[in-house]
Amino acid sequence: MRTQNLGYPRIGGQRQLKKANEQYWAGKINLTELNQVAQKIKEENWRTQLDAGIDLIPCNDFSFYDQTLDTSLLLGVIPQRYAPVLSQVKSNQEMDLYFAMARGYQKDGLDITAMEMTKWLDTNYHYIVPEFTAHQEFRIYTETVFTEYMSAKQLLGQKAKPVLVGPISYLLLGKEKEEGFERIDLINKLIPVYVEIINRLGQLGAEWVQLDEPYLALDLSKKEKEAFTLAYRNIADQVNGVNLLVATYFEALLDNTALAVSLPIQALHIDLVRAPEQLDEVLALVPDQLQLSLGIIDGRNVWKNDYEHSLNLINTAIEKLGTDRVIVAPSCSLLHSPIDLDGETALDPEIKNWMAFAKQKLNEISELKQIVEGNNTLLEINKKALESRRSSQKVHKQVVKNRVAAITDATRISAFPIRQQIQRARFNLPFFPTTTIGSFPQTEDIRQLRAKFKKGELTTDQYEQSIEQATIDAIRWQESIGIDVLVHGEFERNDMVEYFGEQLEGFLFTNNGWVQSYGSRCVKPPVIFGDVSRPNDMTVRWTKFAAAQTDKPMKGMLTGPVTILQWSFVRDDQPREVTTNQIALAIHDEVLALEAAGIGIIQIDEAAIREGLPLRKAKHPHYLDWAVKAFRVTTSGVADKTQIHTHMCYSEFNDIIEHIAAMDADVITIETSRSQMELLHAFAHFEYPNEIGPGVYDIHSPRVPSTDEMTSLLVKASDLLPAQNLWVNPDCGLKTRKWPETKAALENMVAAAKQAREQI
Ligand code: GLN
Ligand code: ZN
Repeated sequence: MRTQNLGYPRIGGQRQLKKANEQYWAGKINLTELNQVAQKIKEENWRTQLDAGIDLIPCNDFSFYDQTLDTSLLLGVIPQRYAPVLSQVKSNQEMDLYFAMARGYQKDGLDITAMEMTKWLDTNYHYIVPEFTAHQEFRIYTETVFTEYMSAKQLLGQKAKPVLVGPISYLLLGKEKEEGFERIDLINKLIPVYVEIINRLGQLGAEWVQLDEPYLALDLSKKEKEAFTLAYRNIADQVNGVNLLVATYFEALLDNTALAVSLPIQALHIDLVRAPEQLDEVLALVPDQLQLSLGIIDGRNVWKNDYEHSLNLINTAIEKLGTDRVIVAPSCSLLHSPIDLDGETALDPEIKNWMAFAKQKLNEISELKQIVEGNNTLLEINKKALESRRSSQKVHKQVVKNRVAAITDATRISAFPIRQQIQRARFNLPFFPTTTIGSFPQTEDIRQLRAKFKKGELTTDQYEQSIEQATIDAIRWQESIGIDVLVHGEFERNDMVEYFGEQLEGFLFTNNGWVQSYGSRCVKPPVIFGDVSRPNDMTVRWTKFAAAQTDKPMKGMLTGPVTILQWSFVRDDQPREVTTNQIALAIHDEVLALEAAGIGIIQIDEAAIREGLPLRKAKHPHYLDWAVKAFRVTTSGVADKTQIHTHMCYSEFNDIIEHIAAMDADVITIETSRSQMELLHAFAHFEYPNEIGPGVYDIHSPRVPSTDEMTSLLVKASDLLPAQNLWVNPDCGLKTRKWPETKAALENMVAAAKQAREQI
């Protein structure tokens, strides 16, 4: 039995790549220095994997920004608008073109937009979306895959295995930038380039090449399935002496199983963490010769592997295939895991003993191999750790479990029309009421303040006084420009999930558990390890303080359960919906506490509800069912006179509109300005009954929109939905903006609301 890895985090244990990239962009280091940092990270990663005894070690999994963008450059898929970059830039051409595609190019009189970025399947990692034209040509444009292989080979010898995004997934990850063709039809032109790349790698000495084809585990059209067969048949026919490994992950193969096992390849990788049940289905169909790579170590989470469970899977596979045809691996690339648990010296040792980061996961792979070969001690040690987690009182709180079990139907007291009447009488807001989404600019001063307080350099009094002052200033300013429903500004919050996680029981925070989100951006998600409960009020102090400063309504601001779940590492010992319900109950208690403190309007952000949608359509109804229900739990039994808002970031609502409506928030604010209110069509078509605030300006750029511009968006919105149900607000929170543009934009927004009141 052999072992392999599919990919390793490339940001470096101390986020060296982030720092080096940002220095390079700022002109503080040169390309040679940037390359040195990269080379060091690669070599360290390869050594770590070599030391762990992994048999097939990935290379070309490194990327300065994103592996899909690397693939675009490798294949020469470079949108025409970047041509001027090449003629302007004299040195570092390739690297500067690459970063221009990733980040846009505003220099030397050029102003070229970046390529679109979107989430990599159902992860929080973002990739750069390839852009295809009808007459798209492909050719080998960069040599990096070959140079990286040569460098890996020096260190790893025959263990070095180049990784490529597979041709079908590469096309499907992209977008047509012109009418009149389907990108999947480009496959015929793409195949010869893949053949050339793989053959060149073979000539350089590569025995194996890994082709990532996550789309093989997704819903595919007939045409896409045919393209898979065609592509791999052609590649296999023309490639000499290189073994092909196709890697699938994040879902089961399901209806694509027969297709996947019939591809003329040497090995197939399947995700047995997400879908352990697919092992039997695959084994039943697997042809002679095909090797199977079992993805049994969770590449997406931070928990120790259950060796006993894994052994069952491995032994089932070995019985059918023999040891020679079984490979043990993580479920997917370890890109999505934090790097090294050893660095976490502040963690509770009992809980730390239940966890594994990327480096520890490599070790688990090699331990599993040793156990298969008869090492029982390792199995016993693992059993003990798991047993300690299973029975720990740090994890299990009977009171919480009982409360979740007792959840029945969660609803508001009266139906929306009744609530709307009561709330209208209570708040007496003007037509087109104005509000914002919650946060105001997080200036360097504010960040410093929180950082100093955390380090103990400020007393609680000093810290709170400064936050109070920032809050008062924000309130006075909102009053002065005439905003109708105020917010306190979220100055006390570092992050909308972390702020709650830090106050809830069942969460822990790491010091260095960073994961790449996009480019040089990394996130450090909280870890939910136990039953979640809320020992104390979380937001009442600041909301009450803010409300007391003004006669206008002050909106309380909470993060919803699905969003907290979605942006954390979650428990793998119970279904996601159970964890979500536990969080929902905690948020529910906070809603009641705010209500009792006299707060009349409470917003519960569910920024991430859409992104939690499972990859396979058949699973959507179940997810939406429990996600919506969890939101309803947070507002269950809340008084009719309390107005519940929710907020969602940019997302397509067409296919989920009935579920959004079922959340039954009194007011929903959504991001719509970049789409010129097009996203509202789903709401209009559905005749969405509750109140809604379609964002009238894009908060992602410092640009200040004019009053007329926003008025016309409001007019557009009132053509689609009843004007008396419309609110006026920006697309999202303003924490990444600076004050000058925020002030100018919001003043114009209030003026636009006034204009619209007169026009409609
Ligand atoms: N209330 C949050 C804020 O204003 C919402 C942010 C979000 O939806 N991502 O920052
Ligand atoms: Zn948002």
